[in-house]
Amino acid sequence: MKTVTAQNIISASHNKFTDKERHSIEDAFAFSERAHQGQERESGEPYFIHVAETARNLARIGADATTITAGLLHDSIEDVEHITIQEIRDRFGDEVAFLVDGVTKLGKLKYRGLKRHVETLRKLFLATARDPRVILIKLADRLHNLETISVLPVEKQQRIAQETLEIYAPIAHRLGIGNLKGELEDVAFKTAYPKEYEQTHALREEKSKENVGQLKRLSHEIRTLLMQSKITMHAMDYRVKHIYSLYKKLQEKDMNIDRVYDIEALRIIVETVEECYLALGLIHSKWKPLPGRIKDYIAMPKRNGYQSLHTTVFTGNGAIVEIQIRTKTMHDVAEYGIASHVGYKEKIGSSSNSSASFVEKLFGRGATDTSATSPMTQWLHELTEAQHGVEHSLSFIRNLRTDFFNDRIFVFTPNGEVVDLPVDATPIDFAYSIHTDLGDHASGARVNGKFVALSTKLNHGDVVFIESKENSKPSHKWLTWAKTGFAKKKIRAVLEKKD
Ligand code: MN
Repeated sequence: MKTVTAQNIISASHNKFTDKERHSIEDAFAFSERAHQGQERESGEPYFIHVAETARNLARIGADATTITAGLLHDSIEDVEHITIQEIRDRFGDEVAFLVDGVTKLGKLKYRGLKRHVETLRKLFLATARDPRVILIKLADRLHNLETISVLPVEKQQRIAQETLEIYAPIAHRLGIGNLKGELEDVAFKTAYPKEYEQTHALREEKSKENVGQLKRLSHEIRTLLMQSKITMHAMDYRVKHIYSLYKKLQEKDMNIDRVYDIEALRIIVETVEECYLALGLIHSKWKPLPGRIKDYIAMPKRNGYQSLHTTVFTGNGAIVEIQIRTKTMHDVAEYGIASHVGYKEKIGSSSNSSASFVEKLFGRGATDTSATSPMTQWLHELTEAQHGVEHSLSFIRNLRTDFFNDRIFVFTPNGEVVDLPVDATPIDFAYSIHTDLGDHASGARVNGKFVALSTKLNHGDVVFIESKENSKPSHKWLTWAKTGFAKKKIRAVLEKKD
């Protein structure tokens, strides 16, 4: 059985940790290993392996020591009975406790597979997370769960895979963590559409074999070309397109792989922005570029911050190769996204609302403001828009303002399903939003395990359970308690029948 050590986790990172940071990771490793002692996953593996692999994923994507520490502890509240958030706080500090608490809360969310819920869930996910690092942990956790998914019942595998493609991967994309997004998509794609996965995989292998000699020759020639012009090149390598992203591209191109030019892309990393353009000029003077495929993401970065120059050139013998040119900093942003952000490694406040200043550092002053124009809102906006066209933007911003931030709350069923309600909604609204029958016969409610009156106002994050009796019926008072038009309409219908 493979085992992971604290050292494995630390050395998976490209970051240099201080002694204190290293100690924190080692301490969390030991603490968590003891806490999960004796627990097993469905595969029969020790539970701790999951936790350690999650932390290793975090290290790999460039997360800081605090996030890795929290990653090691991410299941300790939920799955270990005697461990409390207070204990985590005392031992590892406020920031780690805040992150662990955030991940635990996110763990309550469940996905229903209904299209209309996808957007709500993405928004909810972000609103609940409050700190991008909580999302990083959740993504690293999800990647390991997917890698060990085969032991689960098929139905559950499908649910997790779909949820990953529709919610988690777009979030990773928006955070700019390119590699993680690709990995999440590929494992999920393999689970959800095994046949399509195999076909695409085989196509890619075949094509790659044809291309590899061409790439070697080209990279050699480029190296010489840049050296002659005294351009400082840090590295040159090539990346192979992820399977799912190739599949989506193929769909756009009538499944004709000869129309996909970036199955492999040659990547050149130089010292300065100036050298990026110089290199591009040199390459174009030697090989003719394909019209319409020169992209300047340096002057015009992608929305997730990605920067590079892209071009596709004819290299002779009918071969066509994509070339990407960028600086080291741009490369780190492309690989690690939000985790590579400069502000990310800065010391932040130690109180539990430190997330506010953190978010402000990342997204600019006023980022925690919930007005529709603040950077944080903009970020949320773009994130949930990632898969939609811009034409939705205006109405989306309007909805965001009225429906989401100011006027909406999210509550849960005892199974963790999300119910989206207006502010001041009561258990009556909740009951009707589940089912008309449940509304019509509601007799009482329990909120977070306590009995409450049906007129009680619900709060964000409440877990609501409705009691019903066959002979219970709506009364006139209910009309003043209900907030949603839907519940009021249903109540009136019953009252009219009675009259
Ligand atoms: Mn987990």
